Amino acid sequence: MVRSLFLSCVAAFCFTTAFSQDYRWQQRPEYVMDVKLDVTTHKVNGTQKLTYYNESRDTLNKVYYHLYFNAFQPGSMMDIRSLNLPDPDARVRDRISKLKDDEIGYQHIQSLKQDGKDVTFEVKGTILEVKLAKPLLPKTKAVFDMKFESQIPIQIRRSGRNNKEGIAYTMTQWYPKMAEYDFQGWHAYPYVAREFHGVWGDFDVKITLNPTFIIAATGKLQNPDKIGYGYEKPGTTVKRADGDLTWHFVAKNVIDFAWAADPDYIHDKAQVPNGPELHFFYQAKPADNWKKMEPYAVRHFEFMNKTFGKYPYDVYSIIQGGDGGMEYPMCTMILGEGSFGGLVGVMAHEAAHSWYQGVLASNESLYPWLDEGFTDFASQESEAFMFNGDPKETHTGSYASYFSLIKRGLQEPISQHSDHYNTNAAYGTAAYSMGTVLLHQLKYVIGEENFYKGMRQYYNTWKFKHPEPIDFVRVMEKISGLQLKWYSSYFINTTKRVDYGIKNIVEADGASLVTLERIGEFPMPIDLVVTYKNGTKELLYMPLNEMLGNKPGEDKSVTRIDLDAWPWVNPTYTVKLTHKVSEISSIEIDPSMRMADIDRKNNKIDFLIGPKPYEDPTK
Ligand SMILES: [Zn+2]
Repeated sequence: MVRSLFLSCVAAFCFTTAFSQDYRWQQRPEYVMDVKLDVTTHKVNGTQKLTYYNESRDTLNKVYYHLYFNAFQPGSMMDIRSLNLPDPDARVRDRISKLKDDEIGYQHIQSLKQDGKDVTFEVKGTILEVKLAKPLLPKTKAVFDMKFESQIPIQIRRSGRNNKEGIAYTMTQWYPKMAEYDFQGWHAYPYVAREFHGVWGDFDVKITLNPTFIIAATGKLQNPDKIGYGYEKPGTTVKRADGDLTWHFVAKNVIDFAWAADPDYIHDKAQVPNGPELHFFYQAKPADNWKKMEPYAVRHFEFMNKTFGKYPYDVYSIIQGGDGGMEYPMCTMILGEGSFGGLVGVMAHEAAHSWYQGVLASNESLYPWLDEGFTDFASQESEAFMFNGDPKETHTGSYASYFSLIKRGLQEPISQHSDHYNTNAAYGTAAYSMGTVLLHQLKYVIGEENFYKGMRQYYNTWKFKHPEPIDFVRVMEKISGLQLKWYSSYFINTTKRVDYGIKNIVEADGASLVTLERIGEFPMPIDLVVTYKNGTKELLYMPLNEMLGNKPGEDKSVTRIDLDAWPWVNPTYTVKLTHKVSEISSIEIDPSMRMADIDRKNNKIDFLIGPKPYEDPTK
């Protein structure tokens, strides 16, 4: 449909905001769940009333739910995948294949109605396919009433019961969860133990169980005075009912709902200035480290709020889940035991996910690096701040793991669906390390100041909208005034690498001619720092022609000389220095080492040390 020119001109202003996601939308589920956990059989019985708003422009004849607990059965796709990966997760290996009937997980759908009418449905592993009784038209809603019974598996990875740290129940991905439907269609991927993707919605959850258990969960407890256990306001007399307790949690505008239950949880609280109230749930055994970690968590939220944008909810819970670390909206499940540094590290990583998984919530299955990589990057910077008071983190570990993956011949393009990497090594490096390298190297391309402004702008522009990679690139282009499609395209869609070197230096008429060489296929702008024997320094800057501009100066203490752009097709570029070769102390490409140059041996010539280990290029 073509809008009339008149209308589009008049309405352009107001359409800018309201229709900026013209071809995108946000589906909306509102869950009301009432479940009972039997702590002797480890089964959950419950009802789920899901009001589902179809905000898309499509008529839906089917909907899909995830049934993640079904992955924990011998012969499941997750089991087969783990048995066949060359480098399976040591915590999974063949454990699923050995589960007994009372140890497996399952989700049985006992009944499902759409607006009061029975629907037909089929369980396909971890996916529930529902044929609707009545097509769901655009901009209409349906109410799905479900009865389900789940058996909580022995904990294998993250979710489950009785894990090795002795946490009774880690209840993550525990309920039938509507899959996302967006402009790319359904994202109902059979679960093989990698990433998740969720739909923003509201959760109203009542959980009934044995009164000796303490629950930690997404959202806010609605009946603290009837529960106690540290949730009540100080000085309140808690009146618990006899028998099982019903805990009532509400969370608004979140992509998931997770909880954990254990009789031995200690519950502490801390307030982040201008931020959320933090809740900590842990057992007595790692108590010392947890108490010590709590002020770090407060500082972490302060750093993240200031550097990357404000956390939008008013509570966040850090829960000993007892297996690795995993992020959920408004809470995380982390390992409780181990070293203090490890505990702060996992807390910082998982809490930083609140920004990238919880609030931006890009599709983690399609773009794991946009979540894990950004999260790893942010938490490494926060840790540098917390431990050294200096956020000038160099992310060397991430670069090292990227280079090592290349050396091992395992690299795959990071544009790939997370489930389909051939090895856990390739997936892990792509998602975490390469996501971090993409960002740290972007500082080099557009300048530090633009970069941090852009990170905040990206968060504020795209929160609660599931951004795509191009949305991030466009924000960074607008902030910097530079073209960046070449950068994202090479880094995301290919396995091409950056490799530059100093090819030779010759002297002519009292000047030095330095020829630089692009050895790798991935073109980059070049910072070349020349230090003279008289102590002066200059930065010769060669933007890449594709950028259509120059980054702003970063280091005011060094004179920057802006040279002509380097056309990306040219394999070499010759720079003329006004000094003789004998006056040069050293020449170095990118001393900041933010550029992910896979071979730095040829990036520097130090004339004071002598030509070794380099050949004297002037002879
Ligand atoms: Zn993570």
